[in-house]
Amino acid sequence: MSARDLRELREILGDCHRCPLGDTRITLVFGTGDANARVLFVGEAPGRNEDLNGEPFVGAAGRLLDELLVSIGLSRSDIYIANVLKCRPPKNRDPKRPEIESCTPFLHEQIRIIDPTVVVTLGNFATRLLLDTKVGITDLHGAPVVIDGRTVLPVFHPAATIYDRTKRDDLFADFATLGTLLTGGRT
Ligand code: URA
Repeated sequence: MSARDLRELREILGDCHRCPLGDTRITLVFGTGDANARVLFVGEAPGRNEDLNGEPFVGAAGRLLDELLVSIGLSRSDIYIANVLKCRPPKNRDPKRPEIESCTPFLHEQIRIIDPTVVVTLGNFATRLLLDTKVGITDLHGAPVVIDGRTVLPVFHPAATIYDRTKRDDLFADFATLGTLLTGGRT
């Protein structure tokens, strides 16, 4: 697969039924934002609100993501957001391996086309996939890793921090690291 741009990639996905989530989703959530963004965020999978709206991170976790962006002077129009899975798993259960395997080529194409300087992985699923590791986010968060010339910054998933003050503070601190990476400073 080699799409010229995001629009063509979306067309290739079509009315996707490459995995069984195609039968249960309402809307395929492709991703949104600036196709030339310097930062690409990768979440886990659409939840109920996203499935209804067709956009990533529109629920409570999305509101926190907006706050985090503001804390480093960014807004959604500056970034691109995608997910490991483009369709909602029923009852928001964890993604299954065959679902991840069917969807991953499309995420890699989004990364290739957007060509961001930094990929921020939100939570365990995105981090394990893009860092090809079994190590959990609690041990990896906040430490940038360079892979194929691109910086990957693992951070907690915003939804995991809503009721956990300590994790939330860590998440804001890790966004400060992102801010520093983008302004070319030392982290
Ligand atoms: N959680 C995610 O990981 N992705 C979304 O799009 C929404 C919530």
